[in-house]
Amino acid sequence: MFMSKKIIIGNWKMNPSSLMQAEDLFKSIQKNISSKIKTDIIICPPNIYLPSFAKTLAGKEKLKKIFLGAQNVSYEEKGAFTGEISAEMLKDIGVKYVILGHSERRMMGEDNFDINKKIKASLFAGLVPILCVGEKERDENHKYLNFIKNQIEECLNGVVKNSVSKIIIAYEPVWAIGKNAKREAIPKEFLEMSIFIRKILSDKFGVKSIKKTKVIYGGSVNPKNVLDFLKEGEADGFLVGRDSLNPKKFTEIIKICEA
Ligand code: PEP
Repeated sequence: MFMSKKIIIGNWKMNPSSLMQAEDLFKSIQKNISSKIKTDIIICPPNIYLPSFAKTLAGKEKLKKIFLGAQNVSYEEKGAFTGEISAEMLKDIGVKYVILGHSERRMMGEDNFDINKKIKASLFAGLVPILCVGEKERDENHKYLNFIKNQIEECLNGVVKNSVSKIIIAYEPVWAIGKNAKREAIPKEFLEMSIFIRKILSDKFGVKSIKKTKVIYGGSVNPKNVLDFLKEGEADGFLVGRDSLNPKKFTEIIKICEA
């Protein structure tokens, strides 16, 4: 697992505040990334910046390891859904990935059933869903394991076997995310959880179908802890929040994954 191709996702959330700042940030990341790297870099800015970034990337060999992702999508195909953006629209402008089920969206009321429909709509349009799962807290009786199992089973309900390898699972314990994190997770906690997640997936879809499914880690990832999550946690990649807005730290994380 340690040698497999890694993916690093930058979730910019609702940042930065202007197109000019967003383009500057995007350029600062680009200029430090060689086309020869093995790692796939996925930048997920607010939707409004996506067309400009897509133009920058179009046909540029040097930038071929950088991909675009959205932070949400509608599960509807088209029609009278004010304020929504469909998977097909994202795909059409050059987006390849979409983060689904992030804890911040779940806090806004999104549930496993909504996420399930969004996963199916994304797969149908040819987008790669990045499904976030994670417990709010850990209890001594390990009830959180059932919570994760339930999240995965409900979110992937009705997804066909052949599609599971296309889905990226991001384990993001809510207690380890953002500036209000209770504490950092340790690599061993991620390793145990990724084994558990693979077991749930293989029980549901069969070992063969999940061979290529990536399980990545998210929650206060930074240049100091990323190597331990790779080595001891055997992470397939990372979903990075705060440090994806800092080009120096983000490119350092990438370089550590490459090395
Ligand atoms: C996140 O919100 O998905 C996240 C991983 O944030 P951070 O890296 O800032 O903890």
